[in-house]
Amino acid sequence: MKCLEGVFRMNIIVCIKQVPDTNDIKIDPVKGTLIREGVPSIINPEDKNAIEAALRIKGDGKVVVLSMGPPQAEEALREALAMGADEAILLCDFKFAGSDTWATANVLAAAVKKIDHDLIICGRQAIDGDTAQVGPQLAENLGLPQVTYVQKISLEGSKLNLERAMEDGFEIIQAELPILITVVKEINEPRYITLQGIDKAYDTEIKKWTADYIGAEVEKIGIKGSPTAVKKTFVPPRKGQGQKIEGQPKEQARKIIQILKEKEIFQEF
Ligand SMILES: Cc1cc2nc3c(=O)[nH]c(=O)nc-3n(C[C@H](O)[C@H](O)[C@H](O)COP(=O)(O)OP(=O)(O)OC[C@H]3O[C@@H](n4cnc5c(N)ncnc54)[C@H](O)[C@@H]3O)c2cc1C
Repeated sequence: MKCLEGVFRMNIIVCIKQVPDTNDIKIDPVKGTLIREGVPSIINPEDKNAIEAALRIKGDGKVVVLSMGPPQAEEALREALAMGADEAILLCDFKFAGSDTWATANVLAAAVKKIDHDLIICGRQAIDGDTAQVGPQLAENLGLPQVTYVQKISLEGSKLNLERAMEDGFEIIQAELPILITVVKEINEPRYITLQGIDKAYDTEIKKWTADYIGAEVEKIGIKGSPTAVKKTFVPPRKGQGQKIEGQPKEQARKIIQILKEKEIFQEF
């Protein structure tokens, strides 16, 4: 990170994943895999928070958005450019197909090594794969320190002040750069895109990098390089309709106890 005349220049890489809009998810009943064709796609919600965090903290530096995915992931990168990202790179190659989280992190790591950066920001978790593994695996792969579940971020000199969400409170960490962080949705409210932003997004070239270009090791990427095997997938049964209990709090509590007794879930001794 450079500081010129009191203005910081932080170069930030934000890893974003295009995911199916979960309100409209369909599973192939035979193969048990996600049907992506015809399903609207969005930027993974916490990756939008990651972009917003990067834009707020970059100073005079730049934000590079990076995504591994099929050609249509370009849409997600265009949206990120419209939000204000400076550069976008799509990692697209049939050799990447079938990558599990470990192989995904290997691909991202190979690409990251080609980009000047002080900070890498990932979302905490993708809403489709749902593992929250890629950020930490990427940090491990690059030998970088990592702070996960970041809900507040600020710059103090050349250090980052981070607040990390925990189940029963939060942790405050001061971190040196370079570092990788993963962010949760509480960190900020992503900005809306403007018409100017959309214009800029369509004027900016999205770079397309292949496995050969990033020098990815073939045995560590794609289906061949993926140690995870999916044994079974299933759609959880939909929950039945809930029941709304009206009235004052005491009355509501009495009604709930009555219902629980009727269902033999609650017994008075
Ligand atoms: C054997 C196997 C085969 C698979 N084959 C395919 C396949 O062919 N096609 C497919 O789409 N999925 C495939 N998957 C799923 C794929 O592995 C995961 O979607 C992917 O590795 C990310 O994991 P996740 O969704 O749990 O992300 P998480 O670990 O929950 O994501 C955390 C954060 O990491 C970053 N991130 C995650 N993925 C990417 C990405 N692709 N680009 C940039 N940043 C990212 C984002 O910042 C995200 O918020 C396969 C999985 C397995 C186990």
